[in-house]
Amino acid sequence: MSVGLCRFCLEQRPLIEAHIIPKGFFERIRTDESNILVNERDYPKRSPQGIYDKGIMCGRCDNIIGKWDQYAQEALPADMSAFTLIADRQNIGGWELPDYNYELLKLFFISLVWRASISTHPFYAGISIGSKFEEQSRLMLREGRPGDAHDFGLVIARFVEPVGQAFFDPHSERMKGINQVRFYLAGFIAYMKVDQRPYDPSLAHFLLADGQPLRIIKRSIHEGGEAEVLTKIFSAPQNKRRR
Ligand SMILES: [Zn+2]
Repeated sequence: MSVGLCRFCLEQRPLIEAHIIPKGFFERIRTDESNILVNERDYPKRSPQGIYDKGIMCGRCDNIIGKWDQYAQEALPADMSAFTLIADRQNIGGWELPDYNYELLKLFFISLVWRASISTHPFYAGISIGSKFEEQSRLMLREGRPGDAHDFGLVIARFVEPVGQAFFDPHSERMKGINQVRFYLAGFIAYMKVDQRPYDPSLAHFLLADGQPLRIIKRSIHEGGEAEVLTKIFSAPQNKRRR
């Protein structure tokens, strides 16, 4: 264990192996063939231990974040039977859960984006929110402030297909001119706004908000290009034996 600067408390402390996407999301699909990390530049990898970074955080701070990690794994279950299905309207169907803890879930996602942004692990290379948003999110996390619906606004979706459990690498993108980051977590897809401007009002129903139910958009891998990526990766000659 080496001593270094903990990026969370900003003290010189022994640094631990900090997970970024909680290990439990990887373990959830450990025995399944779709337990893979994929990106378009690389081959699918099994990753039973998940991914960690040895240079970002001390154990004391990791324990604080660990509570949010734990809650996220409960709030975003493998089995959606506790949720109510929302009827398909204009192709936006989904799931709804009336009781959940907004504060814990929102802090988890802010911490996830913060950790990915400061990490130098190649899997998180696509996430860099810049020093201003890094410091803003670090302070919110240190003070346990989840912000309101528009601060690091969050929309969560879930794939209906089992193969959607693949862990595509997270990345930054723009949606209707707004900067956001996208994470894949064992079938869930999280979109977090990293931008001062508000999200498009059409997303309001699914924007995570205190006092509102937890609403999750139903998605297919055929809608957003993930199916094409998987097909391309699996059909590459070096990957055929892995199928
Ligand atoms: Zn620390």
